[in-house]
Amino acid sequence: MNPLPTVAVVGRPNVGKSTFINRMVGAREAIVHDMPGVTRDRLYMRTDWNGRDFVVVDTGGIVPGTDEELLQSVEQQARVAIEEADVIVFIVDGEAGVTPVDEDVANLLRTTKKPLILAVNKLDNVTEDPKASEFWSLGLGEPRPISSMHGLGIGDLLDEIVGGFPPPSEEPPPEELRIAIVGKPNAGKSSLTNALLGHERMIVSPVAGTTRDAVDTRLEVNGKVYVLVDTAGIRKKARVDFGVEQFSVVRALKAVDRADVVVLVIDGVEGVTEQDQRIAAIAEDSGKALVVAVNKWDIVPKDTHTMASYRKILEEELRHVKWAEVVFISAKTGQRIDQVLEAAERAAEENSRRITTGVLNEVISEATTMNPPPASHGKRLRIYYASQAVTNPPTFLMFCNEPKLVSDHYKRYLENKIREAFGFSGTPLRLVFRPRRDRG
Ligand code: GDP
Ligand code: GDP
Repeated sequence: MNPLPTVAVVGRPNVGKSTFINRMVGAREAIVHDMPGVTRDRLYMRTDWNGRDFVVVDTGGIVPGTDEELLQSVEQQARVAIEEADVIVFIVDGEAGVTPVDEDVANLLRTTKKPLILAVNKLDNVTEDPKASEFWSLGLGEPRPISSMHGLGIGDLLDEIVGGFPPPSEEPPPEELRIAIVGKPNAGKSSLTNALLGHERMIVSPVAGTTRDAVDTRLEVNGKVYVLVDTAGIRKKARVDFGVEQFSVVRALKAVDRADVVVLVIDGVEGVTEQDQRIAAIAEDSGKALVVAVNKWDIVPKDTHTMASYRKILEEELRHVKWAEVVFISAKTGQRIDQVLEAAERAAEENSRRITTGVLNEVISEATTMNPPPASHGKRLRIYYASQAVTNPPTFLMFCNEPKLVSDHYKRYLENKIREAFGFSGTPLRLVFRPRRDRG
């Protein structure tokens, strides 16, 4: 995966770096856990502008001491920025004018070939903009007047920052899609596996799995590689006596854990059983994408069960995973088994989808306006803003006054609103409520 573009903010203490960064990222918390190479003494904050996701690096850590120490630490900060950032923003203080430290830092920054933006802060009124021209002397190009405190010039600056990023790389399609086929005994797991593998267009080769007894099978369809997780167990089963090998929950858990997508095979004649519900719960808990395959459709009496009526029943009986796509197949005749892979593909995509913060917050604020959170014990839940922290599964941080005021009912309401707006068919979602912590 390509790392997100990064912006580093450099400048002397008190020029307004924190104020500027707060403007850029809002009061969002540093969200770092899905990023490689995170260093402790820096804060990495994820945000977006004009649909481009990026990370703001707050190099921080400057303790003003003697002028010499101050210079050293600002220079250190500038080096970090030159090394790590895609775009550097150098902030100076328009009230204070050019200082010797600014000049030294400018000398250092001039050595980089990276896009560099010189922002002259604390110009709180447009009439003060001409003050910025003094900073031409730093030799870093056109000084941009801004007021971080009043939000002046920030949008234009963000446009420029985002314009300095490398062009968005076309995300290469995921190398392979790992599928765990699970279900109770006799639902048709091995039949489905064999049907998929028996397909003419497929090249089949066994690969060693990570657990001792699990063997995965790799297959290729239309140039796309799929790995069926723990197929050995499933295929072997077809040769042993009927019912001898009990469906092992532990085994299913392990397979689910190693997969991107879970395909839950249901015996269409028998309908949903308690065991199916338990396996569906495993998929939901794991955060993995899920496809429900109603098998044996060739012998399901069509006069009593149309697909539509069957779907209704499933929605009720598998309501915890009613977001899952349902396909009606016959492993025996091969009917619609291609749709299993297609649905798995779609579900995996949704599982790793990311929503930009702006659009997400529009949806959440509309939802809370239409149906305000209920009050409890005289207090009302307030949701200030939301941000998608990670994918697989899509996880939304909801910053609010008091997380304990969130009822299950209201949480479900918000999840439904997110699904209405963005789809996310085939994937579980997580909503995490956090108390707001103001920065700066
Ligand atoms: P940092 O040390 O560079 O992170 O600077 P801060 O963001 O902590 O700001 C230092 C001081 O400058 C604070 O008192 C801010 O309120 C003030 N400040 C920041 N931006 C502006 C601005 O645009 N205009 C004015 N007038 N003051 C600002
Ligand atoms: P597993 O225990 O889940 O692996 O189930 P199997 O694949 O061994 O299938 C159990 C039984 O159901 C076998 O007798 C299969 O022939 C039968 N079966 C599986 N899929 C279908 C199907 O789509 N249609 C029909 N009619 N029978 C099926």
